[in-house]
Amino acid sequence: MRDSRFDVLFESVQIGPVKAKNRFYVVPHACGHSSLSPNGAIAFRETKAKGGWGVISTQITEISPDTDLGSHPTERIWDDQDLPYHQKVTERIHVHGALAAIELGHAGVRARNLQSGMPIIGPSVQPCLRKELPFYAQEMSKSDIKKFRQAHKDAALRAKRAGYDIVYVYAAHDISLLTNFLSRRTNFRSDEYGGSLENRVRLLREVLDDTKEAVGDKCAVAFRFGVHEFVSQYAITSDGEGRDVVGMLAEIPDLWDVNISGWTYDSSSSRLSEEGFQEEYTGFVKSMTSKPVVGVGRYTTPDRMVSLIKKGVFDLIGAARPSIADPFLPKKIEGGRMGEIRECIGCNQCVATESYGVAVRCTQNPTINEEWRRNWHPEEVPQALDSKNILVVGAGPAGLEYALTAAKAGHQITLCEQSTELGGRLNHEANFYGLAAYRRAADYRTYLLKQMSNVDIYLGNHLSASDIVEFGADEVVVATGARWRRDGVGSTHLDPIKGLENIQILTPDDFQDSASLPTSVLVYDDDHDYIGSVVAEHLARKGCRVVFVTPLDQLSAWTAQKLERDRIVERLHGLKVEMHVNCKITEVTSGAIHTRIGITSEARRFDVDALLLVTTKIPKAQLLEDLQALGMDSEVIQVIGDGRAPGTLQAAIYSGHAAAMESITGISHQIFKRDKATVEIDL
Ligand code: SF4
Repeated sequence: MRDSRFDVLFESVQIGPVKAKNRFYVVPHACGHSSLSPNGAIAFRETKAKGGWGVISTQITEISPDTDLGSHPTERIWDDQDLPYHQKVTERIHVHGALAAIELGHAGVRARNLQSGMPIIGPSVQPCLRKELPFYAQEMSKSDIKKFRQAHKDAALRAKRAGYDIVYVYAAHDISLLTNFLSRRTNFRSDEYGGSLENRVRLLREVLDDTKEAVGDKCAVAFRFGVHEFVSQYAITSDGEGRDVVGMLAEIPDLWDVNISGWTYDSSSSRLSEEGFQEEYTGFVKSMTSKPVVGVGRYTTPDRMVSLIKKGVFDLIGAARPSIADPFLPKKIEGGRMGEIRECIGCNQCVATESYGVAVRCTQNPTINEEWRRNWHPEEVPQALDSKNILVVGAGPAGLEYALTAAKAGHQITLCEQSTELGGRLNHEANFYGLAAYRRAADYRTYLLKQMSNVDIYLGNHLSASDIVEFGADEVVVATGARWRRDGVGSTHLDPIKGLENIQILTPDDFQDSASLPTSVLVYDDDHDYIGSVVAEHLARKGCRVVFVTPLDQLSAWTAQKLERDRIVERLHGLKVEMHVNCKITEVTSGAIHTRIGITSEARRFDVDALLLVTTKIPKAQLLEDLQALGMDSEVIQVIGDGRAPGTLQAAIYSGHAAAMESITGISHQIFKRDKATVEIDL
């Protein structure tokens, strides 16, 4: 059972009129659900409540139609029509003894209002804060300010009626009208709401007072505040106006929920920031208020959490991504099952999927957002009716996940891996600079598999097709992964590149041995996820001259969805990596790579020793072909992960889980429940 050194994490915390049962706090965070997917959103939150978190928060919840974030999936509490949904949210959280919190929000100058058609409002006339959007905010009159305060108050009252225990006032991430008023970057007013800090903080103070007056008898009022921004000379900073605001409002809210801003920094990936990365900015808050403080920093280590409490940094351990990767993290600490914690690897695939407008996907936790629609549980697997003898060939991300899931169901698993350690691609990628945390996805599964008596693991074991046939398994799972192409075919470069025989060709697969690195290399990224920039950085840090080229109009395009790209590019600049976009290789001649710029057709030549192709991957299909040639029954063979369709780590792990669940339950992966909007024909 629980180690006594973690007892402090299970102490209750009084927050205004309510009490959290422990210090594990799921802070408000985007989850990819909108008001159109209520069942998925409710189950997502209930799973965390079951997992032992003391407080479960919603994401930003729009208070009124004039804060419509358009294509971005957010929830709403515009009027009483939204109440039944919120009542169900709180009911399902309360069943498990957790408190329910709602983050009321108005996006101000960040809103788009394309759906509602209402004007965007802000403290002053200015462009919308999404730079690529050609929309302007209009200046709020005193009457507009009054209406906004009333809308916030009405939303708070609705939240109380819905059963929420904690009601947020939100001024963080630069997605808040209140931040717009607070910041010198966006507030150019000359009335009592502009100018001095005292004036700029006025609306915030009024809204906090309004909210306390409206719901403070029953609900705690939390203030979520980005105490430090990285944006401009007028930024709110932890040693400037951020600190001053905390001092001015110190005792007004019942809870301070503090972070850094914008979202790019708050949800920094593990490649860019380590566990606890926010402490240097948020750590001062507790010394300025007697009210409880919650903060985040991708905390997954119980000892680190204890130290935060003991050192008086925070009162509650805030989590967004760690609660996605492991909704049962508190229960595991409570049960003394530390080795079973599925630690967030900080890859930000969750952020990327949410940015694409769908319910978040997680690399570590394939069951996230499948709780309701597929009835998947992050810890439990239904028992198989008949125990089968299953041979899993390949212990990369998909093979490990399949083996673990099928073993939990009671099958007898033989897991064979050609190399000398479990993890496959996870280990390989974790060796690159900044990706060490990726190994956690292998470690978690390896630890569990090694505890199970129905799992036999064979390392350094190359199985031929005839070995497999001879083995006589009831099921053979082929998880042999993929390899990077060496001919230049990529997602935009559809034909092999001419003249590759004239230069040394490398791919990311070749980085086992750092001794053979070239002195100058052109990295050609037609994959557009992280690996291109990772190998470019790796080589630059080893002293190579690196030219990083992509045929797209932006470097590492998918990493923008993960909130990483701008900082990666900045880092590559710092390492003196030459970068070229819109640049397609036309030909390679002896010692030279010839390119053409997409729009202008300008020719460019790069004289380098080697060409590193990060283009596309192809499955390692030989084993499957050999098995088929030996006539093995196709009903017995399953191909999963990159060996079936190369892709992200998240897709590989998900593939392993989905295939195992299909085999265990007999339910096709094509069958799942769908959230449906109630259609009231009104024409
Ligand atoms: Fe963590 Fe990656 Fe899962 Fe997001 S997708 S919660 S960053 S492991």
